[in-house]
Amino acid sequence: MSNQNSSPLKILYAASEAQPLIKTGGLADVAGSLPGALKHFGHDIRVVLPAYPQAVERAIPIKQVASLKIAGSTHPVRILEGTLDGKVPLYLVDAPDFFNRPGNPYVDTHGNDWGDNPERFALFCRTIVSIALNHADLHWQPDIVHCNDWQTGLVAPLLAMEWNRPATVFTIHNLAYQGVYNHTTFERLRLPGSFWSVEGLEFHSNFSFIKGGIAFSDWVTTVSPTYAKEILTAEYGYGFEGLLQHRKERLSGILNGIDYAVWDPASDSALPQAYDANTFSLKRLNKVALQRELGLPEDENTFLLGHIGRLVEQKGVDMILDIIPGLVNQKNVQLVMLGTGDAQLEQRLRNAAAKHPERVAAYIGYDENLAHRIEAGCDCFIMPSRFEPCGLNQLYSLRYGAVPVVNQTGGLADTVIDASSKNLLNGIATGFSFDEPSADALWRCMERTFELRNRPSIWWEKLATTGMKQDFSWDASAEHYIDVYHMAMDNPAINPLKTA
Ligand code: ADP
Repeated sequence: MSNQNSSPLKILYAASEAQPLIKTGGLADVAGSLPGALKHFGHDIRVVLPAYPQAVERAIPIKQVASLKIAGSTHPVRILEGTLDGKVPLYLVDAPDFFNRPGNPYVDTHGNDWGDNPERFALFCRTIVSIALNHADLHWQPDIVHCNDWQTGLVAPLLAMEWNRPATVFTIHNLAYQGVYNHTTFERLRLPGSFWSVEGLEFHSNFSFIKGGIAFSDWVTTVSPTYAKEILTAEYGYGFEGLLQHRKERLSGILNGIDYAVWDPASDSALPQAYDANTFSLKRLNKVALQRELGLPEDENTFLLGHIGRLVEQKGVDMILDIIPGLVNQKNVQLVMLGTGDAQLEQRLRNAAAKHPERVAAYIGYDENLAHRIEAGCDCFIMPSRFEPCGLNQLYSLRYGAVPVVNQTGGLADTVIDASSKNLLNGIATGFSFDEPSADALWRCMERTFELRNRPSIWWEKLATTGMKQDFSWDASAEHYIDVYHMAMDNPAINPLKTA
């Protein structure tokens, strides 16, 4: 697709998290970097986010630009204006009762969902709608409202009821998170009664925020071409496969890019030693520093494996834990893991580290800088996700020469080229992949890494540096989004409630 239509668009980009203001996962990386890439193409893009305390603190200078009455809030909702990263204009939706809290955007400090999440994100959606209709005293109306994940799922259905609405695009970053609540909640939110219908938001006797985005938006995207196909099937569709098939003419898979200003070992200030594909051997200094930092025996010849991520079933962390007995049986192999999430997985991880202190290091928590140093220190990055809409860690791993070992699903299948003999000989291999999410399959794949590792080092170096030279910057993907925006504007979807 090429972007023939180059006139600047006005885009309102809505998300529940964005780097560098607040982050729990990949959505923040995308929301923090795609808008900048779109701005770079000359578009007038503005990001809107809830005013969490961390976001307000980091978005300075910030000023109040509007104060609105929004259904669901007893107090006026203030709009604060700042910038995302000094460049992209940012609106923060300031409703202190809902957003000024400790914890993260979705859960309290004990990891439990905030009980009023539906109210919080319904208010966020209603404020986005107000901005989108130029009812927020900002003297600006977007051509496009680009929403992301369930927290913004009510925007498209609410806008579908308006005659002068902008076009709507909805991106699914992870279909497993659907914002499903019961009928009492639906009534409490005072949503239009017509939304409680199969054509509307109703979902198996409950209602779902994400269904709003999928059913009502002019265009739907997800974050890799393979995941766009997978979610049409019962295995990956989580009950939405039928609706997605119905909308598949308006569904695109666009691979996430990564921000090389933040993730590049040649300029990464979190690293003890800078390196690039031409100075690959310097990577070993980061390995030794990481071993020291995490209390592992220091040896640059160790085969150091790593994993970073939310400790949830999706990511296949259990499979990594299952193969630890095999890993520690290998000569000179170590494993470092950074993550937080499921209490049981956290405990298993702590136990493994306690049992094999010379071989396994576990850091339970969230640490952005350590994540960078793990990418820089490791030889291999293990990512056995059961499903993976795009996945960013394998892209970071490629750039950092931490050869990814992945289950062949979603974005992992789209971004990692397996080190088969043929691909190795052709010089195009960038990682290792296996095709079934099981500990056995992961182990067989790890055996292939040991085998290559035992060959003369030129083989491993070629594999790692081929990965480092791949280009997953945002430019190509941003152009795809611009095409999608034009398709959404040129082909408004019919409100499904009107065809019912
Ligand atoms: P997802 O969005 O499903 O969590 P992605 O691979 O798309 O997975 O993105 C995860 C992002 O979150 C990456 O930038 C990764 O480095 C980061 N991340 C996840 N867990 C942690 C953690 N415990 N500490 C630091 N960064 C983390």
